[in-house]
Amino acid sequence: MLKIGGFTPFTTIDYPDRLAAVIFCQGCPWRCGYCHNRELLDAAAPGKIPWDEILTFLDRRRGLLDAVVFSGGEPTLQPGLKEAILAVRERGFLTGLHTGGAYPDALAEILPHLDWVGMDIKAPFADYERITGAAGSGEAAERSADLVRTSGVGHRFRTTLDPDLLRDEQIAGLRRLVLEGWGSGYDIRHAAPL
Ligand code: SF4
Repeated sequence: MLKIGGFTPFTTIDYPDRLAAVIFCQGCPWRCGYCHNRELLDAAAPGKIPWDEILTFLDRRRGLLDAVVFSGGEPTLQPGLKEAILAVRERGFLTGLHTGGAYPDALAEILPHLDWVGMDIKAPFADYERITGAAGSGEAAERSADLVRTSGVGHRFRTTLDPDLLRDEQIAGLRRLVLEGWGSGYDIRHAAPL
């Protein structure tokens, strides 16, 4: 069963060109200094919203909402994610995922059941640990990015720009990699003050 730390019933900015609801999944293995979802980080914390309540809500919104986005935290941390995605798809909604790519094996399993993925590229992969505080995070993110960009699933990469953490030439390199090397969409957004 999915552990849910928060829920947005209606948004126009979390799935491209579609009206979506966003499910915020509890738990993340990384500890980025600019994280604004700190209440979602503890994977051992209990969920705040029962999954059945979300399904009841979605059943009432058929035909009114287009998509459901799984965000976090890090949704791929939860073993119940695939079942939840399938339940949402069965109800006729498009399915989206926001991920940092911490769990490439889990991501590979759910990618065929997704319609769109937004993935964070936090830094050059060799420099990830400095941002996430987690050993091996760069390797995991690189594997996940490779899966996403070759999947055929609609996607967009994005980088949160904190000038204290990323140099201009690193940003320029990421931009080149994603736009020219991968041919994928890319957004850079500024880290909001904590
Ligand atoms: S990966 Fe996302 S949710 Fe996890 S600590 Fe970093 S910013 Fe926060």
